[in-house]
Amino acid sequence: MAMMSIPESSVHPENNDQVEGDDKKAGKRWTLEDFDIGKPLGRGKFGNVYLAREKRSKYVVALKVLFKNQLQQSQVEHQLRREIEIQSHLRHPNILRLYGYFYDQNRVYLILEYAPRGELYKELQRCKCFNEKRAATYIASLARALLYCHEKHVIHRDIKPENLLIGFKGELKIADFGWSVHTFSRRRTMCGTLDYLPPEMVENKEHDTAVDIWSLGVLCYEFLYGIPPFEAKKHSDTYRRIIKIDLKFPPTPVVSDAAKDLIRQILVKDSTQRLPLQKILEHPWIVQNDDPTGVYGQNH
Ligand code: ATP
Ligand code: MG
Repeated sequence: MAMMSIPESSVHPENNDQVEGDDKKAGKRWTLEDFDIGKPLGRGKFGNVYLAREKRSKYVVALKVLFKNQLQQSQVEHQLRREIEIQSHLRHPNILRLYGYFYDQNRVYLILEYAPRGELYKELQRCKCFNEKRAATYIASLARALLYCHEKHVIHRDIKPENLLIGFKGELKIADFGWSVHTFSRRRTMCGTLDYLPPEMVENKEHDTAVDIWSLGVLCYEFLYGIPPFEAKKHSDTYRRIIKIDLKFPPTPVVSDAAKDLIRQILVKDSTQRLPLQKILEHPWIVQNDDPTGVYGQNH
C-alpha cells in the first residue's frame, strides 16, 4: 500500500455526511483506489488502522483493514457482520461513525470516523486519573450515548477505556461494536419458548442493558482512582471481588462523597436495582460537574 502524508488539518468535523452522501448518491461501491493512505494509527487483532483520505471529497477518515483469512480462522465473520450492521446505523456525537465498508480478495476495509486525539486509555495512563469535572463529563456523554443505543435495542457489552477514542474537540467516541448485540431480533426468536425461561431471561432487555450501566460504574471509578475497582493480582481474586461487590474507596486521591454515592448506586449486584441511565444523568454529581458542551479540552 502506497503511503502519503495527510495533513490532519483537512479533517472537517462538520462535514460528517460527505463520504456517505457520495456513496449513496452514486450507488457505487468503494474501492481502495478511492483513498490516499496515510500513517498507521494503530494495530488491531485482525489488521491495522490507517489514516486515509477520500480522494474526491478530501475527507479524512480512519481505514481499518482486516485480513479475511484471519477473520475466518478465528470464526469472527459473523461478529464482524453484526458490528458493521449495528455501527453503521448509529448516529450520535459520542459514537464513532462507520461510514461504510468494502472488500477485495484478501481484505475487508471499514471506513471509520477519524478520532484525532486517539485512545482514552493512553490519556488515562498519562494523567494517572482524571479530575471530577473531566470524569463526570465523560460519564455523562457515555450515559447519553448508551441511552441512545439502548433505545435502539443495541447493547454494547464491551465498554472499557481501550474502546473509547477522543474526537476533534476532546469529546469521547464509543468505538468497537464487536461484542454488541441487537436485543430485538434475539427477543423475537425467543417468542415461542418463553414459558420455560427464567425471570432474568424473560426480562432479557433489562438484564442485558444493565451490563452497560455496570461498566459505566467501573469506568467512573477508574477515571477517578486510576485503577478499576475490583483489580487483583490473580484473575480468580478479581472474580471473587466482583461476585461479592468488594467495593473499597482508597483515601487518596481524594474523591467527593457525591461521586462515591453515584458509583455505589451503579455497582449493585441485582441488575434491576442499578441506577438507570436517565437517573445517572440527573445525579447531583453529574449535574454539578458535567461540562454542558459535552466536550473536554486538553488543557483541563
Ligand atoms: P482490539 O480488538 O485488539 O482492540 P481491534 O481489531 O478492535 O483491536 P481497534 O481497536 O479498532 O482494533 O483499532 C486498533 C487501534 O487503532 C486503536 O486502539 C486505536 O489506537 C487506533 N484506531 C482505531 N480506530 C481509530 C479511529 N477511528 N481513529 C483513530 N485511531 C483509531
Ligand atoms: Mg479495539
